[in-house]
Amino acid sequence: MPATKQLSEYNREQLDTLLMVRRRLAVLGQEPQRALQEKIADYLQFRSDVDGFLHEHFTALCNRTCYTSRRSACCSREGIITFFADVVINCLQSTGDDLDKLQRDLLGIQNEHKCVYLTARGCHWRVRPIVCAMFLCNRAAKTVFEDRPSLRNRWEELCRRKQLFTWPDRPVLFDFLEAFFIDLGCSSPLMYLHNSPGLLRVKRRGQASTRDNP
Ligand code: SF4
Repeated sequence: MPATKQLSEYNREQLDTLLMVRRRLAVLGQEPQRALQEKIADYLQFRSDVDGFLHEHFTALCNRTCYTSRRSACCSREGIITFFADVVINCLQSTGDDLDKLQRDLLGIQNEHKCVYLTARGCHWRVRPIVCAMFLCNRAAKTVFEDRPSLRNRWEELCRRKQLFTWPDRPVLFDFLEAFFIDLGCSSPLMYLHNSPGLLRVKRRGQASTRDNP
């Protein structure tokens, strides 16, 4: 791997985390690997449901209003939030070549107006970060949901399902995956469910509520 001294802090954190997860997964036995794949199966089903909904109701509109006119806002911000669990899940679902591409993106020339992972052929992630997957710009949401409350309800139900994997007011997959790698000796600034004061408060409140209402 080439020297990384000119990387932005964001790219360095992303790269260090990606390399660490790859290294750990590479030395994990077959059985723990299989157990991890089983653990993320419900989440992958949820992501497939999200993709299906977006494809059915948003893809044509987004292609028409953004991609063909090159005004796309979704992937144009640098520094999109990625959770540690996003990295793990993507690694579990990717080939070595896929992950090499992400590493090259992080080491490559930066375009400050575009996400580092965006290429002419789209996003390089196999399972995109959850923040990206559930992002709807106000304009698209207004166009699609206006006068269609049942469709909005379906989207809100998907947003509620997302919380069951990501929001640590109860035991959730994203917290489990961080804890799993912490037990293996890993540490990453992307472990927000173990580092963020706000999310730690949510976790503590959830644990207290479970204790008080078993
Ligand atoms: S990670 Fe992928 S989907 Fe998310 S902003 Fe970057 S290019 Fe877009």
